[in-house]
Amino acid sequence: MSLIACHECDLIHRVDPVPEGSAAKCSRCGALLYQHKRDSLERTLALTVTGLILFVVANAFPFLGFKLQAQVHETILITGVQELYHQGMWILATVVLLTTIVMPAAQMMGLLYVLIPLRLNRLPWKLKEVFRLIQSLQPWAMMEVFMLGILVSIVKLGKMATIVPGIAAFAFMALIFVLAATMAVLDPHAVWERIKIQESTRGISVGQANLIGCHTCHLLCRSPSHGVYALTCPRCGTHLHRRKPNSIARTWALILAAAIFYVPANVLPITIVTSLGKKQADTIISGVIYFISSGMWPIALVIFVASVFVPLLKLLALSYLSFSVQRKSGWRPVDRTKIYRMAEVVGRWSMVDVYVVTILVAMVNLGALATIEAGPAAVYFCGVVIITMLAAMSFDPRLIWDNCEENHE
Ligand SMILES: [Zn+2]
Ligand SMILES: [Zn+2]
Repeated sequence: MSLIACHECDLIHRVDPVPEGSAAKCSRCGALLYQHKRDSLERTLALTVTGLILFVVANAFPFLGFKLQAQVHETILITGVQELYHQGMWILATVVLLTTIVMPAAQMMGLLYVLIPLRLNRLPWKLKEVFRLIQSLQPWAMMEVFMLGILVSIVKLGKMATIVPGIAAFAFMALIFVLAATMAVLDPHAVWERIKIQESTRGISVGQANLIGCHTCHLLCRSPSHGVYALTCPRCGTHLHRRKPNSIARTWALILAAAIFYVPANVLPITIVTSLGKKQADTIISGVIYFISSGMWPIALVIFVASVFVPLLKLLALSYLSFSVQRKSGWRPVDRTKIYRMAEVVGRWSMVDVYVVTILVAMVNLGALATIEAGPAAVYFCGVVIITMLAAMSFDPRLIWDNCEENHE
């Protein structure tokens, strides 16, 4: 009999086979425990190969063209990164390069490295390390957010000039769907189960108190506090903790840092437009107002929600969760776990404004006629997004449930 601990509330479940295409959820908090996906590894492999081909096309061919009067300015995917770097915004350039090009590429190459040997019934060298890395990279690969940034930029620039999408833009769009499908089809358990471990090293005892669930591969191991086994998971090698170390203190520190960054991100200019010798600085809010006044209110709504509302909501949600855990609240644990899940999922979409700036900077580069530069707020704003994502990752939702168990006793 095999057991699994819920990664969000630590409740122990027996692993029963589920029918193909369905999923097992935690009976207490509703978290997704495991799924049974048909031919998961074969289908993931096929999609990964398709994704890599599209990725090469998306990077090698012209991406978007910007036509203003007689001038045409063509860009490729990486032009925005280069342009940010030339403007001295190397932090921003690095973040955009990592999240839109390096991480997705590393993820796809890593999957190929893992899946091809598994297909041939062999274990690739360093399988644990590589697959752990692929799983940890996932939140940082943000191509779908970049796609939203492209759409916003096209609408914004459409008023100024003609936008000509290149072949790479279509490849990129297809790539988003292929990547999403890859992640939907991939069943990490199917990979972890290929690593055989001696059952004795896992040391299951029925007493729930000494068990500890692995964050990465969900193997249930004997708790290291009993000193018998090493502090690492015998299957995937992740360091095991009963709870994330210093979770609340870290979360508070990150919330505070993000709140400080939030101020300059909203007060300072995010873009500086130079057109025929005139300079105009825009903040996030003045950008939203511009969209409303020119009748593009759906875009105004996207930017406002992603850049102003979501970061603020996330800071409030995480503060409330940390505060309630410190107060040892036993109030509505299921709802609080839902708040946590929402804060974790929604945060990445705030990157959209950073990408809009990147694309504007790449496209509108026509010398004296019109140039857009990134303003200092872009760096602070990028900081807010990354720090709030780290804050959500450092919060341990199982702490919510610990308090409820204590209260019941
Ligand atoms: Zn649960
Ligand atoms: Zn593990």
